[in-house]
Formats: sequence, structure tokens, C-alpha cells
Amino acid sequence: MAKPEGDRTPKTLEERGFHIIDVHAHPFVKGGYPPAMKAMLASRKYTQPHWVGKSGKGTLEDLKAEFDETGHEVMANDARSHGVKMQPVAWDATSGMGEPPTSNDFVYGLWKEFPDAFFGAWGSVDPWQGQNALHEAERAITELKLIGLKFQQCTQKFRVNDRRFYPLWDLCQQLEAPVQFHIGYTGMGSGAPGGDGLYSMTYCQPLDVDEVAADFPRLKIIALHVGEPWPEVINHVAMHKTNVMRETSGMWPKYFPQCMTYDMNRRLQDKFIFGSEWGVFKLSEILKQWEELDLRPGIMEKVMYKNALNFLGERFEKCGLDLSPWKGLV
Ligand SMILES: [Zn+2]
Repeated sequence: MAKPEGDRTPKTLEERGFHIIDVHAHPFVKGGYPPAMKAMLASRKYTQPHWVGKSGKGTLEDLKAEFDETGHEVMANDARSHGVKMQPVAWDATSGMGEPPTSNDFVYGLWKEFPDAFFGAWGSVDPWQGQNALHEAERAITELKLIGLKFQQCTQKFRVNDRRFYPLWDLCQQLEAPVQFHIGYTGMGSGAPGGDGLYSMTYCQPLDVDEVAADFPRLKIIALHVGEPWPEVINHVAMHKTNVMRETSGMWPKYFPQCMTYDMNRRLQDKFIFGSEWGVFKLSEILKQWEELDLRPGIMEKVMYKNALNFLGERFEKCGLDLSPWKGLV
């Protein structure tokens, strides 16, 4: 049956015919505060100037209350109802921001609480914690069997090509665990004086990834987000190096720069992996906008699950994840 005019709901799982793999979802739910609540408050006031929260004053407590009112099942139900296998990401920026992390145990707990909705999870460590970071990385990867590690260099205040952090990449390469690196612009601190003190551009440059990928050729790297203002640069890094993939979250698809969809349709069709940025972006609207992109036949399937399975499938299996939803589709 045709949908009524103006309907903004995306295709159902049945209409689409495949489950989507989402490698980047923020567990902004009860207990899942990110370690950048103050920066998030700044950007909230910038993007929603009329937001005042329950107290009427738009405080940090108001923002925390929004998290606490969102039960874990809200995220799980959203994933399920859209046929999305979601991977929540941890976030440890203790040294950078002085706020407690979204811990590895927290995302592990979500996955185990709703294993039909969550398809594993990504860990995180505070790169400034030396040996402790290495131990926690190893625990997350080998004991918790998290897929790999996610980094948000802007709030963690480090550059991935800084040789002081190379032991981390060495460990991940040895353990065959992939990493996610944040590229380009961030909403954190946006619109505040001095961007709330955050060096967003300094820490999130695509050429840093080019170096790490060259120095660790067996380390699998997902370069997160559209990567503004450098989408063409990061796309070329991915074109050059088989161990670098691209990811799509952090911007409404209707605003994707032309190089994203152009290359996604052509020479980079095997390089893009879907991420939703759940918690910041509304899943149904993201998926609807993906359907409205001018993509060639078969590209959606590649971005929405095939490329992820090709790049990460072995790791998924090692983490004990069930690949049967895509049986016969790859
Ligand atoms: Zn994110």
C-alpha cells in the first residue's frame, strides 16, 4: 500500500529486505552520560536557543535528567523497529575533559541486555593513561569482546599520529581489533566562546590518519563522519589505503557534500559504512533521507551492510556475533 503524502517514515525491514549494520550509535540513555556534558550543554544552547529544560534555566542537571528519562529499551526498540543492528560506542575522555567516561562495561551491558537489538559494541580508552590505557584496551577487546576501540580526539585532546600513542595502535593491530577515529568538525562545544576551549580542527585531521594507516598496515581504521571541512581529503586517504574505511554519520544525508555521494556511487562504493549517530540524530529521519539520496542500484546494500561485513566480518565472528541475518545476501 502506498504511503500517504508527507509520510516521513522510512521503509520497513520487510520492504527493504535486509538488516542495516550501524557502527556508530551513542548510548545517550539512562547512565550513559558522555564525558563532555558541559560542552554538550554549550552546543545545546547554541542549536536550541529556546531550550530551558525542566528547571527553566537550562542547567547541566536538566540535560542529565533528559538522559535519565530515556530508558535503555528506548534505544533498543528504535533499533529493532527499524531493522537496524546497532553498535553502541563507549567514550573515555577522562584526562581531556575531567568528566567520567561512558565506560566499556556500560556499552557491554547494553549489548548483553538487548542482544537482538545491539550487535556488539565499541570500547574506548583514555589515551593519556599509558599502561592503564593499554590494559583496559586489552580487557575490552579480549575479555569483553568489544569489536574495537572508538576515539574522539577533540575531547580526548590528542592526535592519532603522535608517536606517544603508537603502542595503542600496535596493540590493536596485534589483537586484530579495528579502531574508529573522529574526522573533522564536531558538535561538541560548537557555538560557545572559543568552542568551549576545544581544539576541534587541530585534533581531527585526516592526514593524521594517513600516517597511522601507513605505519600500521594491518590496523583496520574507520574514519568517522563526513569529515568537514576535509571530506575529499579523507576520502582520498581511504582510496589509497585498503585498511581505511569511511563512515557516514554526523550530518543529515540531504546535506552531504557532492564528493560523498559522487564517490559513493563510483570508485568508493566499497569503502563507506553506515553510522547513525543515534542519540544526536533521529534514526527514522536519517534512514528516510538515505532513501532520498541519488544512489545507483546496489549502493545502499553496500553501505548499509555489505561493506561492514567485508571489512569487519571476521572480527564480528570473533566477538561471537550472529551473522545469520545476512546469510545468502553477501
Ligand atoms: Zn559520534
